[in-house]
Amino acid sequence: MQQLLIFGGSETPEIPLELRLDQITITEIGLDLLGTVLKKQKNSENYRGLCPFHEEGSPSFYIKPEKKMFFCYGCHEYGGPLALPFKLDVEMRAMARNTFMAQILAQKQVQDITYIDSLADLDPFTYLAHKVKMDYWRPEEKNLLKKKLIEESQRLLHFGQGYNFLQEYFD
Ligand SMILES: [Zn+2]
Repeated sequence: MQQLLIFGGSETPEIPLELRLDQITITEIGLDLLGTVLKKQKNSENYRGLCPFHEEGSPSFYIKPEKKMFFCYGCHEYGGPLALPFKLDVEMRAMARNTFMAQILAQKQVQDITYIDSLADLDPFTYLAHKVKMDYWRPEEKNLLKKKLIEESQRLLHFGQGYNFLQEYFD
């Protein structure tokens, strides 16, 4: 039901964008983008799977809802819910696999992603735009997303060096 609402397309969002960005969870985005590789852990809200950020044979990548973050014990890649689609995009472009996000969504065989004309065109902004119904072409909405990403980065700063990708995607 939640998915229908998220991908439904016609309802006008009733809550402000900032709240919608605050409310999105790492579990939701993690399962959307990496659902095929993640397994829920027993007696925990955490999910674990093979890390998309480095090659490995046994899973050291975790989705940690309690900390509102993902973290890899192998390569130490980390971030909150808003950073995940951007970090995946950066990583996969670096690996010259432009359509990685499309591939993982396709693997999940999501029926309700027909709104995307071409899966190959999927990018982090398009994904978040549909997820939280934002219009990233409007400077105030894009700036708000940037502000929330900076807040998220600062909240998690003790895990790493901040979100380097911000310069690439935002003015
Ligand atoms: Zn890793």
